[in-house]
Amino acid sequence: MTIVVVGAGPTGLFTAIALARRGHDVTVVDRDPGPVGDAPWRRRGVMQFAHAHTFRGPVVDALQTEIPDAVALLRQAGATVAAADDGTAIALRCRREVFERVLRQVAAGRHGLTMVTGHVDGVIRNGNRAVGVRVHGTRVPADLVIDASGRAGRITRETGAAGLSAPCGAAYVTRQYRVPDGAAHGPVNGPIGLSLSLTGYFAVAFLHDAGTFSITITHGGTDSRLRLLRHAPVYEAAVRAIPVLGQWLEHAEPITPVLPGARLHNTYRPQVDADGRPLMPGLIAVGDAVCTTTPLAGRGVTLAFRQAQALVEMLHSRPHDPVAVGVEFDAWCHEHIRPWFLDHVHGDGDRLRRWAGGDVDLRQRLPSDLVVAAAGADASLRAEVTAYERMQTLPSDLDRLQQRARAVYLTGWRPAPAPGPTRAELGELCAQCATGQPVPV
Ligand SMILES: Cc1cc2nc3c(=O)[nH]c(=O)nc-3n(C[C@H](O)[C@H](O)[C@H](O)COP(=O)(O)OP(=O)(O)OC[C@H]3O[C@@H](n4cnc5c(N)ncnc54)[C@H](O)[C@@H]3O)c2cc1C
Repeated sequence: MTIVVVGAGPTGLFTAIALARRGHDVTVVDRDPGPVGDAPWRRRGVMQFAHAHTFRGPVVDALQTEIPDAVALLRQAGATVAAADDGTAIALRCRREVFERVLRQVAAGRHGLTMVTGHVDGVIRNGNRAVGVRVHGTRVPADLVIDASGRAGRITRETGAAGLSAPCGAAYVTRQYRVPDGAAHGPVNGPIGLSLSLTGYFAVAFLHDAGTFSITITHGGTDSRLRLLRHAPVYEAAVRAIPVLGQWLEHAEPITPVLPGARLHNTYRPQVDADGRPLMPGLIAVGDAVCTTTPLAGRGVTLAFRQAQALVEMLHSRPHDPVAVGVEFDAWCHEHIRPWFLDHVHGDGDRLRRWAGGDVDLRQRLPSDLVVAAAGADASLRAEVTAYERMQTLPSDLDRLQQRARAVYLTGWRPAPAPGPTRAELGELCAQCATGQPVPV
């Protein structure tokens, strides 16, 4: 089959490499020309490129199955895989840039895969059937168009798909650092690095490749003083004010500016109409073009690769019927991806309410993060919440733990916030620091 993939982000490249391996003739079009040697890569079209990423274990499993060379190259580049005692991959620790560079490198050497630099202006149709794309006015015909154009992509929106959307309720600032050879990073409390739930906000330090790491502070965006965190001196004063996090800055050199972000949405886009007919036969969206979830949970690439694997398998078993595959894939996404979107919508809304001072609400179904947290008081929940955390089960598998988790909260137990300023104190610190007043340490 001749296939055009729009977008050379993680989803587009993974999908294209996997399809080319199965003998399809694949062209990937992206407006970004890709990196040139080791020169800095000013990535176009992906605002989160230099923002903190950690990749969950299923990303490693997907790469190991489909593109094992990529895992080897990532390790050569200094990425590490954190694994559980039983060998299950928990996380791939590397910067997003390193991750994408490696995928690009594999794609460039893949027989049957052509990379084209250009902007896809739109889909060419015969009637309503997609039969290719227009790149700078030039026609690129195809039996199947795959839309991997990401959260900001416009391709699938041409179909008039009525997507679902709800705010993530997260404003954040992030910065990457490097420690010199041999220097230790700061204290960790999990395989990805350090994750702290403070009063009214979160702070994390993600370990990356080759001595690099990133620190991110995330809040609800309601306190305007926290916008000052985008200024480097304010940001570093805030990081130092969180005792265990401040230790990460010892010996570390920043390698990016402080990068702010906000107004992200959880989104889900079906690809069939109310009667189950494809919105545009011959066009299939995958990855962020189908579903985005709050970055706080670091699930995006896992959900994207899961979709890509499912789609590739469906196309392999029905190579002559991409239109039927589009319908089958939408049904699969409805069953396996939409639940994660709904999980985030419920969890994000409740987190914002609690960040604003609300208590655990036992009148409603507990959101997944509270079921997971309850394992801190009732160890018998641990095995099942671990399966959810590793994304080995769907969120609905936590439903059977609802009663036991509620019992924990009915005793009055609550997860203890990590030591550090409350959100109001952090806001005060930002305001003081921005006006040059001494900041209490
Ligand atoms: C702040 C932030 C932090 C995140 N952190 C994590 C994390 O820790 N872990 C995790 O797993 N996920 C994380 N995610 C989600 C993750 O970044 C996405 O899931 C991932 O980028 C999806 O990849 P994609 O290939 O589908 O889309 P993208 O990465 O957006 O790639 C789309 C590509 O399509 C190209 N394109 C778009 N339109 C056109 C066009 N018309 N013509 C040509 N090219 C086009 C773009 O240039 C781009 O290269 C985070 C997201 C955000 C916003």
